[in-house]
Amino acid sequence: MELDGNALGGDLSSVFAADVTGAVFVCAGCQHSGVVASLRVWVPAPGLVGRCPNCTDVVLRLVRTPTRAFLTLTGASRLELPLD
Ligand SMILES: [Zn+2]
Repeated sequence: MELDGNALGGDLSSVFAADVTGAVFVCAGCQHSGVVASLRVWVPAPGLVGRCPNCTDVVLRLVRTPTRAFLTLTGASRLELPLD
């Protein structure tokens, strides 16, 4: 059975309502893993850029506008979020 992306809505909304700072990332560049809170973030910048503490590659980017948020996770090969 094939469904459209609306089938993801319930589970994704519970995931993104979680505190992501405790989530474990795996860096796509060096395979280092750690909690999101351990990423290195330099400010000020146009948006937030989280870099791997091991190799300094960009793991995630978050840019907010008044009406939207743009999250890029191309530098993370995996993100593990704890569920209650
Ligand atoms: Zn890395």
